[in-house]
Amino acid sequence: MNPEQLELTIGWLYPTLMSTYGDRGNAICLQKRAEWRGIKVQVLSLDQQTTAEQLHQVDIFVGGGAQDRQQEIVMRDLRGIKAEMLRAKIDAGTPGVFTCGSPQLLGHYYEPALGQRIEGLGLLDFVSKHPGPDARRCIGNVVFEVTASPLAQELEAMLGTKPVVIGFENHGGRTYLGKVQPLGRVIKGYGNNGEDGMEGAFYRNAIATYSHGPLLPKNPFIADWLLQKALTQRYQTPVSLQPLDDTLAQQARAAMLKRLALTNLVQEPVNC
Ligand code: GLN
Repeated sequence: MNPEQLELTIGWLYPTLMSTYGDRGNAICLQKRAEWRGIKVQVLSLDQQTTAEQLHQVDIFVGGGAQDRQQEIVMRDLRGIKAEMLRAKIDAGTPGVFTCGSPQLLGHYYEPALGQRIEGLGLLDFVSKHPGPDARRCIGNVVFEVTASPLAQELEAMLGTKPVVIGFENHGGRTYLGKVQPLGRVIKGYGNNGEDGMEGAFYRNAIATYSHGPLLPKNPFIADWLLQKALTQRYQTPVSLQPLDDTLAQQARAAMLKRLALTNLVQEPVNC
C-alpha cells in the first residue's frame, strides 16, 4: 500500500493526569516515525470527556505514568462502557504501550502508598502494591532483554540481534505477575519488583512496562513494531515500513550501555 494513503489514530490516555514522567515522548515518537513515512496521524486525547465510540477509533494506545492520586481519579472515570471498550480493543489485538502507572491500572488492582486499594481493569493477570511511604522507590536506569513471545522473535527478526531495551524507572509500586508473560528479563535495574528478575508484561499486542525514558525514542524498534501492528490491524494486510536513520538513537544507546558497564551489549548501528 502507498504510505500516503495510510492513516493512524494514536489514543493518548489521560494526558493531563498521566504525564508526570515524560511519557508524552512515546506519543511524539510514534507520531513522528509514522509521519516521516508519509502516514497521516491523528493524536486523540482520551480523558473524562471521551466517549466509548472515540475509544473504538484508536489504532495504538499510549498510557503514561502518574502519581497515586491521579491514578485513582483515572480509575474512577475508566468504568462501565469505557472500560469495556478499552478491554475489548486490547483483547482484539489493538497495540499499545503502557508505562508504570497505566499498567498498574490494567492489572487486578493497585495498592497505593496510602489509602484505599484502587481496583484495575483486571485485563492483565497481575497485582501491584506499594509497600508504604517509607519504602525505597525503585529509581534508576533499567536495561532488559525482551523475552515475551512472539514479540521477542519478531523484534529479533527486525533487528538481526536480541532485543535489548534501555529505559529509566521510577516507581514505588511493585508488580507481581500471575499467568501473564513478563515483557522481559532484567539485566540492570529493579523491573517489576526488584526480586524476581522480571520486567513488565505482554498481553496480545499490549506492552506493559516500568520503563520510562521515554521508552520509544530510546528503543525505536519498539515504536516501529507498534506502528506495523497497528497498520496491519487497521488495513487487514501486512504493511512494511521504510527504514529510518536511527544513528542518533543508536549512539545514545551505546553511551548509556557504556555508562552502565554493559559494553558487551553495544551493537553496531542498524537501521530498523
Ligand atoms: N504511582 C505509581 C508508583 O509509584 C506509578 C509511578 C509512575 O508512574 N512512575 O508505583
